[in-house]
Amino acid sequence: MPVNTAAYHSIKKELSTTHTRLVAVSKTKPLSDLQEMYELGQRDFGENYVQELVDKQAALPKDINWHFIGHLQTNKVKYIAPFVCLVHGVDGLKLLQEINKQAAKNNRVIDCLLQIHIAQEETKFGLNELELTEMLPQIGMLKNIRICGFMGMASFTENQPQLESEFKLLKSIAEKFNSICFQPSTIISMGMSSDYQLAIENGSNMVRIGSLLFGGRQ
Ligand SMILES: *Cc1c(COP(=O)(O)O)cnc(C)c1O
Repeated sequence: MPVNTAAYHSIKKELSTTHTRLVAVSKTKPLSDLQEMYELGQRDFGENYVQELVDKQAALPKDINWHFIGHLQTNKVKYIAPFVCLVHGVDGLKLLQEINKQAAKNNRVIDCLLQIHIAQEETKFGLNELELTEMLPQIGMLKNIRICGFMGMASFTENQPQLESEFKLLKSIAEKFNSICFQPSTIISMGMSSDYQLAIENGSNMVRIGSLLFGGRQ
């Protein structure tokens, strides 16, 4: 399936009016699809798997901003630390400490989003408010990471009121814990192909869109 150029242009136009940043989620897609999207002007790409991300980064233009949006295992941080632009799914202090350590080794400061558990499903990763509160005192000591905002995955449902309440929950937590973030503006990463408009209406300023741009995945 080819890259959906028309969808890309219409989404970009739609997002520009709301100052929302687009992360093109390219997991499982071939290099040629990413190259095509790059040539349309896209620079932010999101990947879920470390090895795939490392391979793609090596092969594609160096001015791409690579977002890691999957569940990052502590022992794999070292592979992406040299180049990753933003780690979306940070859901614990151990992981944050490891990112800090690997960032220091690479003489970098790595931007991170804390993942908040907003879905009703048990399986989705993320911190609750209590866990977040408990992490706070430690975060300030980590000099090679920068908390830039929050990320959430809504429930896998078409129930609009439920999605809306989950997005609102993330927005409210982002407002409440705004002070731990590197300023000026707090990133709120929420919304995917099926619900990005609702997410933006409820406070998202960064959407992660895959299948609308690249077609369905296996
Ligand atoms: C795959 C993925 C997306 C993109 O999903 P689409 O429905 O294809 O837009 C967004 N966020 C995360 C965390 C993902 O794993």
